[in-house]
Amino acid sequence: MRGLGVALSAPLQSIKIEFQGGEPLLNFDLIKKVVIEAEHRSTIVGKTVTFVITTNLALLTDDVLAFCREHSILISTSLDGPADLHNRNRPRPGGNSHALATEGIHRVQETLGHDRVGALMTTTEASLDRVEEIVDEYVSLRLDGIFLRPLSPYGFAIKTKQFGKYDASRWLTFYERGLRYILELNKRGTYFPEFYASLLLKRMLTDRPIGYVDLRSPAGIGLGALVYNYDGKVFASDEGRMLAEMGDRTFELGDLAADDYRSLVLSEKLVGLVSASLTQCAPQCSTCAYEPHCGADPVYHHATQSDPVGIKPLSEFCARHKGIFRLLFELLEGSPEDAAVLRRWAAA
Ligand code: SF4
Repeated sequence: MRGLGVALSAPLQSIKIEFQGGEPLLNFDLIKKVVIEAEHRSTIVGKTVTFVITTNLALLTDDVLAFCREHSILISTSLDGPADLHNRNRPRPGGNSHALATEGIHRVQETLGHDRVGALMTTTEASLDRVEEIVDEYVSLRLDGIFLRPLSPYGFAIKTKQFGKYDASRWLTFYERGLRYILELNKRGTYFPEFYASLLLKRMLTDRPIGYVDLRSPAGIGLGALVYNYDGKVFASDEGRMLAEMGDRTFELGDLAADDYRSLVLSEKLVGLVSASLTQCAPQCSTCAYEPHCGADPVYHHATQSDPVGIKPLSEFCARHKGIFRLLFELLEGSPEDAAVLRRWAAA
C-alpha cells in the first residue's frame, strides 16, 4: 500500500487510480483492498479519489459488478471493431474475445449505467479499410464515442508484430475517412464524438484544460501520471513501463520501497526529460503553426528515434498531428455543418 501514500501525497485535490494488467481482474482481491484503503485514506486527507479498471471483461462476475457499483468504479476495455477483426487482433482459447467483450459491455451498461464503460480500439493493418464498420460497431453497442488510435511502438503492437505495417500517411487516410463518416452520423442526429478530435478541438477553440497527459508541453510524463509496476518499480508513463518490458529502462523513475512522491517527480531523470520536452523551444516545433495546439511525446520519440525530443521531419507522431490539425482547420473553415458538430464536441 506504499503506492497509495505516494499517490495521495501528490499536490492534487483529485486523484484517479487506474488498474491495468495484463488482466487486473486476475487479482480482484488486491483491487478491493486498494480501493477500500484509498477511500479511507483520501477521506482523512480531504482528497477525492476515483477508480478505473482496464479489463478485457473475460473475468467479469456479479461480484465484480456489485463492487464497482458500490465504489463508483469505471470500466475501460478494448474493442477493435467487428467480431472477426477483434478476434484476430486478440486471440484467446475458444476464439471468443469479441463475444466476451460485447457481452461484458452490455452487462456493465445494464448494471452500472450506460456511461460507466468506455472502450479503446487499436488500428491494425486489417482495420485500415474498415473504419465505417468499426464506428458502426461502437454505435450499435451504444458506446459514447470512439478514439481512432494508431498503433504505438510498444506492448500489443510489438508482441503481435503489427508495428510498422502502415505509415502515418495510410493512417491519416483511415482517420480522415472515419472522421468524415462520424461527422455524417452526427449531422443525421446521432451525437457521437471522435475523442481525439474532441480533445484537440477543446484545446484549439476553448481555454479549458484538456487533462490529457500524452499531448502537453512540457510533457505530462511523471507529472500527469505515475505508473507502479507489480514489482514496485515506478515509471513515468505506461508506455515507459512497456519499454522496460522490452529491456529499455529509460523511463524508470525509482522504486516504491525507497522513494516518495517528491523524490520520484524531482528525480534528475524526470526533470531532464521534462525540461527538454518544451515544444516552444524544440527544433521544428518552435516555428510550427500548430505548436500552440500540439504537445510533446518523449517516450514515443525515444522509442522510435532514440531521441526524446524527436527529429520532427522524420517523426510519424509529427506527421500524424500535422495531418489531423490540417484536416480539422479545413473542416472548421470549409463546412459550416461540420464546424457546428466540431464546435459542439469542443464545448462538451
Ligand atoms: S505538428 Fe510537429 S512540428 Fe508542429 S508542434 Fe506538433 S510535433 Fe512539433
